[in-house]
Amino acid sequence: MTLDRTPMNAPDVPAHRHKPGQCSAYGCPMWAGIKVGTDWVCDCHAFADITQWQEVTARLNQRIKLIRATHRAMNTDPFKGWAHAAAMYMPKIGRPDLVPMKVTLAHPYRDRHTGEMVERFVERDEAEHLPLWAMRLRNTLFRECVNGIPQAQQPETRAAATGPQTAASLLPEFSQ
Ligand SMILES: [Zn+2]
Repeated sequence: MTLDRTPMNAPDVPAHRHKPGQCSAYGCPMWAGIKVGTDWVCDCHAFADITQWQEVTARLNQRIKLIRATHRAMNTDPFKGWAHAAAMYMPKIGRPDLVPMKVTLAHPYRDRHTGEMVERFVERDEAEHLPLWAMRLRNTLFRECVNGIPQAQQPETRAAATGPQTAASLLPEFSQ
């Protein structure tokens, strides 16, 4: 299995063909996940202001390959070598910032004695946790398409990352 192969209910191009399971916003290439009134829409359109819908659709259509990769990541059982396939594939679609990498996650917890919230940071390698990587792809789509935040040129977790092999080869400064 590779990330190039498209699952059956994957987003389709051209996007204006409305299919079951697809977001009902006109021209949206995303799968539907949330019911708003009588319509099923994607989470991007669900949370976007209605006046922004067309812009959101346009941004999503500019990221059709990322949408497919995200969809796959969310619907694939981790197969041997998926992380390597992903590390090769993401730069190929212009998203070297989204290769699976080590990320630092904040896990705040409440101290039992003082009752105060304590910051705790846990390092995880996305290459060993497919859902974690899928979540980052999804969050990235949402941030760029709903909030209009431009594509990161480099991984945003760069400062926190300690240099997984894939990122290190893309960004030599990682290994220093
Ligand atoms: Zn949509």
